[in-house]
Amino acid sequence: MADTTLMDKLVSLCKRRGFVFQSSEIYGGLGSVWDYGPLGVELKKNVKDRWWRAMVHARDDIEGIDAAILMHPRVWEASGHVAGFTDPLVDCRHCKNRFRADDPRIKGTPGQPDAQCPVCGSKGTLTEPRLFNLMFKTFMGPVEEQAAVVYLRPETAQGIYVNYLNVLQSSRQRIPFGIAQIGKAFRNEITPGNFIFRTREFEQMEMQFFVKPGTDAEWFERWREWRMQWHRDLGLTPERLQWHQHGPDELAHYARAAFDIQYQFPFGWQEIEGIHNRGNFDLGRHQEYSGKKLEYFDQAANERYLPLIVETSAGADRVTLTLLVDAYREEEVEGETRVVLGFHPAVAPIKAGVFPLVKKDGMPELATALYHDLKRRFPAFYDDSGAIGRRYRRMDEAGTPFGITVDGETTAQRTVTVRERDSMQQERVSVDQVAEYVAERVGVS
Ligand code: ATP
Repeated sequence: MADTTLMDKLVSLCKRRGFVFQSSEIYGGLGSVWDYGPLGVELKKNVKDRWWRAMVHARDDIEGIDAAILMHPRVWEASGHVAGFTDPLVDCRHCKNRFRADDPRIKGTPGQPDAQCPVCGSKGTLTEPRLFNLMFKTFMGPVEEQAAVVYLRPETAQGIYVNYLNVLQSSRQRIPFGIAQIGKAFRNEITPGNFIFRTREFEQMEMQFFVKPGTDAEWFERWREWRMQWHRDLGLTPERLQWHQHGPDELAHYARAAFDIQYQFPFGWQEIEGIHNRGNFDLGRHQEYSGKKLEYFDQAANERYLPLIVETSAGADRVTLTLLVDAYREEEVEGETRVVLGFHPAVAPIKAGVFPLVKKDGMPELATALYHDLKRRFPAFYDDSGAIGRRYRRMDEAGTPFGITVDGETTAQRTVTVRERDSMQQERVSVDQVAEYVAERVGVS
């Protein structure tokens, strides 16, 4: 399948089945902003829940927080975002489109007569690059003046740094320890695109790990390994995951090392998570700008120091897209094409479909009772319309791992047919045990 076709098919499936819709679609949509539908919200929630479980609940050395999106404007001066969170931008004076100056589609040098606009094809109409800050600005309170400017956060990390002492003191953690957060971030990207890969509003899953100077390289390696394993455990094709090390030209000036976890999307290898050894830049800057001491006192060693930070920063939407791309497949079955989202059962939005074979002989009643029973434990879906094969196909497209059919034997023998999505194998399971059967296989206990 051609790569562009795959993305087109995925976008259309996502709309048809209720994974992702264009924002404000009835008004023509809003550029690169997307809404999650009933299946998409479950899929993305499963990603976030798995991250939270791995990063917060399963560990003793990480605490969670949920900081506000709006922060004191000085935060963004300290972080360097006001001065440096910029992309060079060029305008076409003819068609009024905007591009990043490094847009590979631009021929020639922007600002020069030879430069050609990639949209309207005009020559010499592209402006010189000028720096454009990617932060969304708004005003706090009723007066729209410079003094009232606040920003929508472009990353969640700063909410962690400014709360580091609060968390340390209230949780009685000791270094090394981490703070994790999941939340919205906003970037006025110049060239967003590729569906939910690069959007202007997105969710990050970030963790900042505070360590003693001298131990950062070791923690950095540990975190690299743990984070890559987390992505593998989502069931992603291992060959489609790789490391990309930031070279000297990509590395932030303060960073000691940075690696991206990349996934092979239809549009190329792209970052889904960054693991960064940030040194003492963040706490150092906040200490300087706030005038508050942010040092840690190590009682056992009787020493005081500014902790260094190892960061893991992943996008919940990008990981969700990764799962969709990795799961999509088309197969020929008995002369027909079946579309399957072969999600790992633990992330599948719906865990089981329940189908009465026919709408009579007590089957709908039995199936409804079973459906309600299952719904108490995990998301299930009831479908009594159309041929059973069609119902299975609908569940395949939604990525539902199990289909349960209540048929003629159910009343007599108290068994149902359980059909597994990938192998399409069917097995008879007792009605009383089918909830447990599915729960075990989808990782719900
Ligand atoms: P990129 O180079 O792709 O713009 P970045 O290096 O700026 O990403 P970070 O600032 O390290 O990204 O952000 C961490 C993570 O947040 C990324 O790995 C990605 O998963 C997610 N992310 C960043 N920008 C966006 C966006 N515009 N839309 C969706 N997710 C994003």
